[in-house]
This record gives sequence, structure tokens and C-alpha cells, in this order.
Amino acid sequence: MSHPQFVTVLGATGSIGLSTLDVIARHPQRYKVFALSGYRQLAELLALCVRHVPLFAVVPDEKVARTLQDDLCAAGLDTRVLVGEGGLCEVAADPRVSTVVAAIVGAAGLRPTLAAVEAGKKILLANKEALVMSGALFMQAVRRSGAVLLPIDSEHNAIFQCLPGDYARGLGAVGVRRILLTASGGPFRLTPLVELESVTPEQACAHPNWSMGRKISVDSASMMNKGLELIEACWLFDAQPSQVEVVIHPQSVIHSLVDYIDGSVLAQLGNPDMRTPIANALAWPERIESGVKPLDLFAIARLDFQAPDEQRFPCLRLARQAAEGGGSAPAMLNAANEVAVAAFLERRIRYPEIASIIDAVLNQEAVVDVAELAAVFAADTQARHLAEQWLSRHGR
Ligand code: NDP
Ligand code: MG
Repeated sequence: MSHPQFVTVLGATGSIGLSTLDVIARHPQRYKVFALSGYRQLAELLALCVRHVPLFAVVPDEKVARTLQDDLCAAGLDTRVLVGEGGLCEVAADPRVSTVVAAIVGAAGLRPTLAAVEAGKKILLANKEALVMSGALFMQAVRRSGAVLLPIDSEHNAIFQCLPGDYARGLGAVGVRRILLTASGGPFRLTPLVELESVTPEQACAHPNWSMGRKISVDSASMMNKGLELIEACWLFDAQPSQVEVVIHPQSVIHSLVDYIDGSVLAQLGNPDMRTPIANALAWPERIESGVKPLDLFAIARLDFQAPDEQRFPCLRLARQAAEGGGSAPAMLNAANEVAVAAFLERRIRYPEIASIIDAVLNQEAVVDVAELAAVFAADTQARHLAEQWLSRHGR
């Protein structure tokens, strides 16, 4: 590929967005920023525009757009401000763009990410919820358009690095027995079960190894994140849920492993810093500096592994059930989880009720086929509605 390449960062003001821009800024001859999007953190978005001078910035509404446009002009920048989902889709699909980083959190990222897929871009996927919701349609669109889909979720990037280049022939065909998906176990791995009743959002967001956005931090505490990643792995690598085993590995140094039929097990290791998978995917198949410190195995000294406990982590069981159920089940799981996590972060529910809400929603609604995007969004809307009903029924 010729350089520099234009990169659009969807969700630039978030944790993944900032890590991506840190890597990009180290390689000005290779990458130029085409567009940046933000949602609530508009001062941060303005500061990022001043630093990276994109052609476009995208914000949620017209009022905010006018303010940002004025501020950009005052700063002497030509950056044009676009609005809403239409603006996000436009900067994801623009013919000048070669790479799109999908780092919006939650279902809101689905349409813009799909716009990049349909335009045949190289997509660096962080927004796992998009793939969980619409996996079959998403992967069909990738094949149809010839888009290059590269995972930057650290586990999936690790699996990608441990698989042979021709893994799309099928895991069986390339001699893979199973995928071992590692999980840190989060901040509540050792918390006595009775104490989980009263844990706070601050405790849930205090991840022992990774610094991340609030939603994924809560997902990591409940291990719903690993459940979503199980579904993500099934779509990315064409695996059955039974071929993906979750392994708790508290040090977060091994980011996942691939087990081959000859007994070889390949692992990817590194410091827990998202700049490594981001740099890997940005430059793939080449390698570039990411700013991440070299791994010091002597300082780490030991690596531990244990099986997950489903009583402690019911969300993992619910996600596996949804993965096996297929159809609309993963979209419902994701939507119910988004509502439940938001309610927990707003202190409207207790932590164990996240799983209760998801369980109730999944039990109330039959799984249907999702042959079109409209069916995916219908399942998403219905699950949100049922989750809200649960909240009002319980007086929250
Ligand atoms: P953050 O919450 O830090 O950032 C989310 C980004 O999305 C922000 O730019 C935010 O804007 C924007 N955003 C939020 N809501 C909307 C919306 N409704 N419409 C448009 N944009 C919106 O999350 P993370 O960076 O931690 O995570 C992003 C994605 O990457 C998630 O899907 C997560 O699961 C995945 N991921 C994250 C990892 C991590 O280490 N952080 C690791 C692996 C995957 P603003 O901040 O301006 O409001
Ligand atoms: Mg991950």
C-alpha cells in the first residue's frame, strides 16, 4: 500500500480511539487522520482536531456541530463538521479513506461500521457489539465487498496472530482443535459472593490490568465481555461455540491461544496495552513501533490459569446460551446487557441484577431468524423495551 494512508477513527474520544491516535502520531509518514468522531466529550474532540488536523469531525447533533465548527475556525482549522449517524457513515465510506477504526461503544457503532464494510475498507474492529448483534449479515457483507476485517480486541488479535494466513479455509482444514480465549477474571474474581450484592460502579470499573471505557469495564467485571468475545470469535474465525474455551489468566500477559491437533499450542504474549493489537492491525502484514514497553518476563515471573466459575459469572453462561441459540439471541443479549449496565452505572440496580435482567429478557422472547438488518434492530429494540419493563416492574 502507498503511504500516507487516510484513517477514520470512529469513537476517537474513547479509550481505544486515544490509543489509536497515539500509535498514528508515531508514524506521520504512514498515516494521516481523515475523520474523528466524538459524542459527549466535545472539548476533547476539539483538542484532538487541533493535534491531528482531520478533514472531518463528526458529532451527534446540529447545535453541537455549530459550536465545534466555530471553535475549529477560531483555531484556524479547515476541518468540516458532520452530524449524526449519516455523518459517521459518510466518513466511514469515503473513497479517500483506506482504514476505518471502529471504536464506538455498543449498538450505536453498527451502522457506521457496516458502512465501512460495504465500502470495502480495511476495518480495525474494536466495536465487538456490532459483530455480536449482526454476525451473519456482517460477515456476509465482508465477503461480498472484499473488506479486510482485522480484530483489535486483544484476544482476537492474539488468535489472529496465532492462526495461519489461510485460516479462512476453516479451522479444521488448518489443523486447529480449539481456541483458548483468555480472561483476567476482572476485579471480582476473588470477591466473596455475598459481597457482590453491594459492589459499586467504581469498584466494577477498577480493572486490575486494563484501563478502558466504563461499559466494557463493567462487562469485564461480570465477564459478559468474555461472553461477547466468545460470540465475536465464532464469527471472526468461523468457529462453533464448543470450539472456544474460556480460560481465566489473571496476569493478562497471554492474550489468547490456539490449540492444534498435533498438540502444539501457540500463544501471543505482551504487556496489557491496546496499542500492541492496534499497531499490529494498522500495519498488518508489516510491523511498526507502538510505544509499548518490551515484555519483562522476569518481572512477571509466573502465569496462572483457572477455569471460570459460572455461579460467580452467570453472564458468561447466558452469552454461551445465546451463542448456541443463534438468530436474534445475541442481539437480544447485547441490548439487554447495554440497558442493564447503564442502569448499574446510574446506581439504579445492584450488580447481580445485571445478569437477572438479561436472563429475564432472554427467557421472555423467542429466538427468531435475522436475515435482514431490520430484524436485528427489531430484536435490539424489543430487548431494550423488555429490559426497561423489568426496571419499572422493580421500581427502578
Ligand atoms: P469508551 O467509552 O472509552 O469510548 C467510546 C467512544 O464511543 C467514545 O468516543 C464516545 O464518545 C463514543 N460514543 C459513545 N456513545 C456513542 C453514540 N451513541 N454514538 C456515537 N458515538 C458514541 O469505550 P472504549 O474505547 O473502551 O471501547 C470502545 C469499543 O471498543 C467498545 O465496543 C469496546 O467493547 C471495545 N473494546 C475496548 C477495549 C479497551 O481496551 N478499551 C478493548 C477491546 C475492545 P464520547 O467519549 O465523546 O462520549
Ligand atoms: Mg478483549
